[in-house]
Amino acid sequence: MTFLIVRFVILLLISWCTMTIVHESGHLVGGWLTGGTLEDYSLAPWSLPYSRFEPDPHPLVTLWAGPLVGVLVPLLLAIIVRRPAIWFISHFCTLANGVYLALAWLTGDHHLDTPRLMEKGASPFWIALFCTVTISFGYVGFRKACVLLLTKTVQNHR
Ligand SMILES: [Zn+2]
Repeated sequence: MTFLIVRFVILLLISWCTMTIVHESGHLVGGWLTGGTLEDYSLAPWSLPYSRFEPDPHPLVTLWAGPLVGVLVPLLLAIIVRRPAIWFISHFCTLANGVYLALAWLTGDHHLDTPRLMEKGASPFWIALFCTVTISFGYVGFRKACVLLLTKTVQNHR
């Protein structure tokens, strides 16, 4: 049983690192592709990753690229690899990106993505749609992935 919990916790840690690094890499790619100059960044998952472009000619692209790439890259990887552990990570990333944008919206902290998106003119409709889709699909998928992973490993270790 201890093995199952350790394995589950390790998978959660990998999911967290994947989520933070892929999300922030999305901002980096978005800013870089639209001609921004990278002033400062950190991808370290243990402190919240960040990036700052100055100037940032298309801030909406830079800002949206984080959550979109953060959801789509792990999803694409899961579709290609088709392993339960990768689906677990992908669903975690989907859920986490949605929850992050929703919480950032509620807190109104101007260092976080959602208030910054709104300052730059993003429509609350698209943000709400993103949160609704990612939180609902992410929750259902992640819950299913947890059950599958735990029941399969329990059966394998009886
Ligand atoms: Zn972000």
